[in-house]
Amino acid sequence: MKQFQFDYEGEDKLVSMLKRIRQWCNASVVSNVLFQIYTESLDKSKIERICDVIDREIPDALYMGCSTNGNILMGDKSKSPISIICTAYEYPSTQIKLLQFPLDENKAQRVASELCLFVKENPWVKSIMTYTTMRGMSMTDYCDYLGMLPKKIVFCGGGAFSENMNENAAFVFSSEGEISDHAAVFLLTGGEDYYVRALHVTGWKPLGRYHQVTKAKGPYLYELDGRPAYEMYYKYLNIKNDDNFFVNTLEFPFLYELNGMDILRAPIDSDDDGALIMTADIAEDVQARIAYGDPSTILESVYNAAVSFEDFIPDTFNVFSCAARRTFWGDDEVGNETDPFQSLAPTSGFYTSGEFLRSGDYVNQHNVTLVIEAQREGDLREKAVPTVEMDNEEFSGKVSMINRLATFIQAATEELEETNRKLEIVAKQDGLTKLFNRGEIQHCITLEAEKYLNTSNCSKARVGSSLIMMDIDDFKKVNDTYGHREGDLVLKGLAQMLRDTMAENNIFGKAGRWGGEEFMVLLPDSNEAKAIEVAELFRKNFNNLEFEKCAHQTLSLGVTEMVAGENSDIPCMRADDALYEAKRTGKNKVVVSR
Ligand code: GH3
Ligand code: MG
Ligand code: MG
Repeated sequence: MKQFQFDYEGEDKLVSMLKRIRQWCNASVVSNVLFQIYTESLDKSKIERICDVIDREIPDALYMGCSTNGNILMGDKSKSPISIICTAYEYPSTQIKLLQFPLDENKAQRVASELCLFVKENPWVKSIMTYTTMRGMSMTDYCDYLGMLPKKIVFCGGGAFSENMNENAAFVFSSEGEISDHAAVFLLTGGEDYYVRALHVTGWKPLGRYHQVTKAKGPYLYELDGRPAYEMYYKYLNIKNDDNFFVNTLEFPFLYELNGMDILRAPIDSDDDGALIMTADIAEDVQARIAYGDPSTILESVYNAAVSFEDFIPDTFNVFSCAARRTFWGDDEVGNETDPFQSLAPTSGFYTSGEFLRSGDYVNQHNVTLVIEAQREGDLREKAVPTVEMDNEEFSGKVSMINRLATFIQAATEELEETNRKLEIVAKQDGLTKLFNRGEIQHCITLEAEKYLNTSNCSKARVGSSLIMMDIDDFKKVNDTYGHREGDLVLKGLAQMLRDTMAENNIFGKAGRWGGEEFMVLLPDSNEAKAIEVAELFRKNFNNLEFEKCAHQTLSLGVTEMVAGENSDIPCMRADDALYEAKRTGKNKVVVSR
């Protein structure tokens, strides 16, 4: 594979460049010639002229291109609005094919099906690279359909864009179709001597705690943790909802996991209600975190990505880098993150409105991400392994201050989350018996009663959930005779007996300490008859426990079934009445109250 990369500097220079390429091709063994044309400018007539010139000078060549938010040439941001990359494939076995389809949300399924069909009929295909218009279009279904492509095919690409990020206008074109505002172009490449590998790298790292996406639709992120999503940026980062919102939030996009892949989404804008409009669809019901971009961390990540390609010995790289990365770095520095790839092989591409990459079973749409595809013709044996060079003042393997602070915040957040988890347990638990405390068991009973509140006017129906209240008989004597320590052992023994009995008999219930030596068990799945059985089991099993000093003890129990529509205090009082009756009539028994 041989590449010629150059900026468009007028028609005359283009013609002489093409003549030189033609000469080179005539003197070499060339199987296919492909032109990739990237244009920041939306001047369609100029692009038409360029395509005509290519058609005239090298009639057999294929060409594909799109409008961009900046072009990448020789691993750096090109200063010219139009850049051209010519690839000559040198192996006769290598095949390329271009396809162009009209694309909008209604045609997504058809495009994916046609592509799948083509691939099925042409088993030589190893990779598909796409340029697609997508501004203002939901790509979620499209990506799902593309997931049907055979797993072994490398799929990557980028969304067309324009110089002006606020504009939705963008186009793609190819030798197979017109310049189109609503289309996708696909380059299919394969053959036995063709090798391809692609990956994605962000360099952005998560910061702080997870937030639940509680309301989102398409690219609209309405709520996080039930609050307007914008509040997150104001609360944690003091970013105001003004003209600089986009630039300020760029360093802090949301990071979440989808299909086992890290996905970044940056907010483009925020509306008056605090909803965020994101760079692409955001999934609902996921946990998202704010991520931060820091130059040295990003450079370290792209450096490592480049190193991972060393053993592949690429001939060329195609790069699809998010336009947000260009804004993040600025034009003078953005080349630093594509430069490491250039030290291995000629690197070209463009700044996109979205990046596509197949990983596992899924084609994912990324944002703020760099997708990179390496290609090679021929066997590894014929080539020497290159090494990545990176001579950048900012990157010296040192960890930056921002990185250290972010690590600090992350560690502190994890400690707090762990402490919160422990506190939550402590707040609900009785210290001595490890059962629920009074507040928590009361809360459980309230929730259970609320389930049946609205059925109140049907009838005073029993609901099939019951309460068992119990109290140790003559417990004061245990304390008085054997000491408080022995009393505590009896209380713990009772609690353990309750847990064991429920576990061994598959009884679903919640047990809590009501106070002193009184306990309450809520049985959400037991009617009165079942609850009586359970209470009898508790009573017998407690009798059977043998304590060190006080030997065997007894228990009195009151049972009641809950009734639809009643306030949770009422069944508790009924259970208490039943328990009182058990005490009054001899203790060590179960009494029911209705
Ligand atoms: P009854 O059969 O009528 O229930 O008689 P009782 O002696 O069990 O009832 P009473 O209410 O007179 O005594 C309860 C005792 O439980 C008094 C109190 O010291 C003891 N107690 C309450 N909480 C604890 C505790 O955490 N540990 C110990 N060891 N004793 C406790
Ligand atoms: Mg007692
Ligand atoms: Mg008592």
